[in-house]
Amino acid sequence: MPELPEVEYTARQLRASVVGATIREAQVFWDRTIGHPALPDFLAEIAGLQIEGIRRRGKFLLVDLSGDQLLSVHRRMTGNFLLLPPGWQLDTSLRELDPSAWATKGPTYHYAPAAGMTLTHEMKYCRVSFVLEDGRCLLFTDPRKFGRVELWSRSQEQLALRGLGPEPLEDDFTRDYFAAVLSGRRSVIKQVLLDQMVVAGIGNIYADEALYYAHIHPSRRADSLSAAEVELLHAGVISVLASGIEHGGTSFNDYRDLWGEAGDNYNHVHVYQQEGKPCPRCGTVIERMVIAQRSAHFCPQCQQAPTLPGETVAAEASEASEALT
Ligand SMILES: [Zn+2]
Repeated sequence: MPELPEVEYTARQLRASVVGATIREAQVFWDRTIGHPALPDFLAEIAGLQIEGIRRRGKFLLVDLSGDQLLSVHRRMTGNFLLLPPGWQLDTSLRELDPSAWATKGPTYHYAPAAGMTLTHEMKYCRVSFVLEDGRCLLFTDPRKFGRVELWSRSQEQLALRGLGPEPLEDDFTRDYFAAVLSGRRSVIKQVLLDQMVVAGIGNIYADEALYYAHIHPSRRADSLSAAEVELLHAGVISVLASGIEHGGTSFNDYRDLWGEAGDNYNHVHVYQQEGKPCPRCGTVIERMVIAQRSAHFCPQCQQAPTLPGETVAAEASEASEALT
């Protein structure tokens, strides 16, 4: 799943490529990808708008459009952007030939660079295409179909973002704020880090990496962390996210950048999906456990399991807090 660094990296690539371009029309190949407004309104309102800017907030990619409109994109599990140069032709013939295959795969695109020569590219799982006036197409691809594209008026931005917490790489994510929030949480720290209202943009990869950085076991109770541990974890969150951006994001199965290239951060993770391998710090074998239905990866030596009663979470308490977050 793309997290803050992957979305930030895409936002930077888009900013350098499509700001100033005008959207001629949007073509939607999977209706439910459009979360707001109703599809006919979405299609009517977006046509002719100019892309004025690209931002990121948490895991949301935000496109500022002319007419005070805002496109918000949440990639969820497998959503990606791909920018197609001019000259590629849309082929929707599968829609009539094999409707069930169409529902899964979406359209193909053809390209004829010279007479008698045609390249066919199965533009995998394209759900929405933004056709630009200059002939390029910005494709939103999403095999699992959980991603959402929404159009809001800019004054409705808070609604579009659904109560996101502070940006971890900006000034309002202070140690005092983080300490105050954690001291009020009885659930496990791994789960609290994933709560987008506590801090925006962290998912499974960077939560595991930040906890490893801070020598904190993922199943510790959030309110049991010492002041020194909170300080280390705060620094860890910032450090692992900044490093993820620097390496172009982490690629596992689906994440690709705007040009279809995989990010490089996989070579820089320490514990995420590294179970069975030696800890880079101490050589102990990295382990994996399931916490709140998500896998957590950690070094059992560097990140000591909770032992004191106040450090662990009773099963019922954990479930209750999950329902709340
Ligand atoms: Zn270790």
